[in-house]
Amino acid sequence: MEQDRLWQAVLGDIEITLSRGNYLTWFKNTQLLKHSPDKLVIGVPNVFIKQQLERKYHDLVTETLLKNGVNVPLVEYKIQSVARKPEADDIITLPSPTGASEQYAQPAGTKISNSLAHAYRLGLNERYTFENFVVGSGNELAYAACQSIAANPGTRYNPLFLYGGVGIGKTHLIQAVGNAVLAGKPSARVVYVSTEQFVQEFVDALRYKKNTDFADFYRGADVLIVDDVQFLAGKEKIQEEFFHTFNALHQANKQIIISSDKPPREIPTLEERLRSRFVWGMSIDMQNPDFETRCAILQIKSEGHHIQLPNDVVDYLATNVSTNIRELEGALNQLLAFCEMRALEPNLAIATGLLGSSQARPKHLSARQIIERCARHYQVSVEDMLGPKRDKDIVVPRQVAMYMLRSELHLSFPKIARELGRKDHTTAIHSVDKIEREQRLDAEVRNSLAEIKERLYA
Ligand code: ADP
Ligand code: MG
Repeated sequence: MEQDRLWQAVLGDIEITLSRGNYLTWFKNTQLLKHSPDKLVIGVPNVFIKQQLERKYHDLVTETLLKNGVNVPLVEYKIQSVARKPEADDIITLPSPTGASEQYAQPAGTKISNSLAHAYRLGLNERYTFENFVVGSGNELAYAACQSIAANPGTRYNPLFLYGGVGIGKTHLIQAVGNAVLAGKPSARVVYVSTEQFVQEFVDALRYKKNTDFADFYRGADVLIVDDVQFLAGKEKIQEEFFHTFNALHQANKQIIISSDKPPREIPTLEERLRSRFVWGMSIDMQNPDFETRCAILQIKSEGHHIQLPNDVVDYLATNVSTNIRELEGALNQLLAFCEMRALEPNLAIATGLLGSSQARPKHLSARQIIERCARHYQVSVEDMLGPKRDKDIVVPRQVAMYMLRSELHLSFPKIARELGRKDHTTAIHSVDKIEREQRLDAEVRNSLAEIKERLYA
């Protein structure tokens, strides 16, 4: 059929742009269901894949369609179970490399219910890889341990406990392990979760009486990665749950990776039995990298934007932004956005000017100021931002505001949702993720963000 041929061509193109693991996982079992001038419908095996395609791969799909001569205003994904009845959709299935479906998380015959939240739990961001992680002083040991784990999960260094200050590369590195494991074995059950999200899901599970689902899901992982575990402090019930999850996985020789901003002994009100579990394996601290490493990071990041930074600019940034890599990256992005908006080549004078003004930033921005600034930028009212309207004119500013609450104030997702009058914290996760992705792909979004920031910090 014409339709089949078109989709095979599109898949062929997609296959060469993605890693093999990702292609097999997300695209192998898709098909073209409908192709009319105004709409194209792609059949996918389950809601889990549907969400990933919508969230992460939609641009890739539309671009590849365009490349193959198809320009439709609307592309939709529809759950279409091929050899199964529709009710089978409430089991998470992932296509295996052989093409047969296999259950995603299946500890000893349990079926995992497919609530929305589950799709987020996988949580890996492809952007974080070993390839784009610069190894240098401060992170060599952590890097080596992570690589060794990626090659042989669950054998040595279990659990791995990485700790260090903010913005130092913990999340990057532990996500890279997950991505590498999946690339080597697409059927592996790799789960990355922030502690915030783990706690929130646990609370929801209790409320909706889904505790068994919750427990089964996490105990079904081959590799469980839990980020920022310091947020477990003082939460006794969830610590207990985590303790059991930990034991179940550890006994089954499944890999556990944990990160925190401080070593286990310094996390106040962490139960002793959990503390002792955390130090069973290997704990490594990550330090701020030295000047050379910071320079290398700047170079790699600017190459990612297809820009060659002059050496004096690299030197200047690496010397003056030495707190952590996140700040360094922030300064670089600010510089690149500023230059892009004005079609200038980055140079030392611009860098000095920008950094000088950003170092004079007021320390205490409020959430309200950010929301107001976003509203003004998009010329909508704050009332509408906080209200129920769902048209695009309002949704985009709202998503940008959520993103900025995260990037500028590091608020938790539940708090971000509350600031914008939303009940569901997954909306905040989704929005932050979406803008994060768009700002990398779309210069207009990048410019808007830079403009809003410029005004905020003016
Ligand atoms: P943490 O989790 O420790 O707070 P992140 O992993 O989020 O820090 O790192 C902050 C930013 O800095 C990320 O964008 C990450 O990609 C980048 N980064 C940190 N260390 C490195 C490194 N060694 N090489 C490349 N990028 C790095
Ligand atoms: Mg982190």
